[in-house]
Amino acid sequence: MTGDAAAKAIRKGDPSGSLLLIGEEAVAPYKRPPLSKGLWKGDDEAKVDLGALARGGDVLLGTRATGLDVARRALTLADGAEVGYERLLLATGARARELPGLPSGGPVVAFRHLADYHAARARSGPGRVAAVVGGGFIGTELAAALTEAGSEVHMIFPQAELGASRFPPELAALVGANYRARGVRLHPNTRVASGDVADAAATLTLDDGTTLRADLVVVGIGAVPNDELAKAAGLRVDDGIWVDDRLRAARAGAGDPDDDALGVFAAGDVANFAFPGFARRTRIEHEDNAYAMGAAAGRQMVASVTGAESAPFSHLPFFYSDLFDDGYEAVGTLDARLDVVADWSEPGKSGVFYYLDGGTVRGVLLWNTWGLVDAARDLILAGATVAPSGLKGRLQG
Ligand SMILES: Cc1cc2nc3c(=O)[nH]c(=O)nc-3n(C[C@H](O)[C@H](O)[C@H](O)COP(=O)(O)OP(=O)(O)OC[C@H]3O[C@@H](n4cnc5c(N)ncnc54)[C@H](O)[C@@H]3O)c2cc1C
Repeated sequence: MTGDAAAKAIRKGDPSGSLLLIGEEAVAPYKRPPLSKGLWKGDDEAKVDLGALARGGDVLLGTRATGLDVARRALTLADGAEVGYERLLLATGARARELPGLPSGGPVVAFRHLADYHAARARSGPGRVAAVVGGGFIGTELAAALTEAGSEVHMIFPQAELGASRFPPELAALVGANYRARGVRLHPNTRVASGDVADAAATLTLDDGTTLRADLVVVGIGAVPNDELAKAAGLRVDDGIWVDDRLRAARAGAGDPDDDALGVFAAGDVANFAFPGFARRTRIEHEDNAYAMGAAAGRQMVASVTGAESAPFSHLPFFYSDLFDDGYEAVGTLDARLDVVADWSEPGKSGVFYYLDGGTVRGVLLWNTWGLVDAARDLILAGATVAPSGLKGRLQG
């Protein structure tokens, strides 16, 4: 998604220069969010395609970049071929973290790619049992999707309640109650201790002694940045590829990058950036960031060649998720350890949650509340110290 957005922006800014998009997956760039939502509800799979092939550049699919020589400005591909570049964008994203001792394969699917959706779908439906490991974005969305597809779903997660690390207790309790009411069997405070995997099914042993036989084990326990290529090339890597406000990567140990010194940029899930409104540098693994940062990187790459003025990247992205019939949009940091001020517009149904750190709003969760993303972003970016009582009614749905 990031690479595709960048390619589009490069083509817009430079209609004739050579442009090559290299992707390890065998399919053309596509939107990932529908893999845990719309596709399960019958949305047309053709519509996830981002249309990169029509965008006026060359595309090498099913091809992994295995080496990067920044001094020679050359990328090595898995088949040994070398590609030279003037500007390079590393938009290598992240991969699904695997369960120790239970690598992806057969019934075990560490969920990330379109191929994972197909694998999960083939093992789901009435009469089938699915174990979903992890209660984060991927776990909660897929548990809902699998339940609606007819599978009996078990969720295994270490928190005391579903979403407890992200939502305040009153909201996490509502989410958990909704999942239980929908028939999802929740196993809170629980981890997978071991697993026995055969082609048709897996038997999981949980650390509370429970054993579960499942036709499908979906693993949604976070993502790991694909930053190894950058690290091996001597670039500055710290939980992702470090980039400055023009999305330029730097050499490890170097200060800020000099103009054009490397010609290497990074964006999207793999990029570690000083996002406005955040207390510290971070990576953001969300769609809005992929599109905005990808497009900005494309513009920066063109500007660094033409010498055109380029504004620093300063977008604070929003994100969203669906949990059965509930949905939300959010901006900033959703960490249940912060002070959370709840402002229900309809108790138990919809409202706005403000996440405060030392009196400053760091995150806003818009629960079943739409159209307020920009206002939430402005509130966080204002960075003002606010009294919790002053937040009631501050953002209105
Ligand atoms: C199931 C799912 C649902 C999601 N739902 C939402 C949502 O509801 N809302 C939201 O805001 N965000 C959502 N996201 C997050 C969003 O999809 C990501 O933020 C986005 O995909 C990041 O895009 P990216 O291009 O930076 O990285 P990626 O999507 O990870 O793409 C990186 C690409 O680079 C390839 N690659 C990696 N290394 C190499 C290499 N060495 N050589 C060649 N190619 C390589 C990878 O194979 C991959 O195709 C979801 C993600 C998933 C997985």
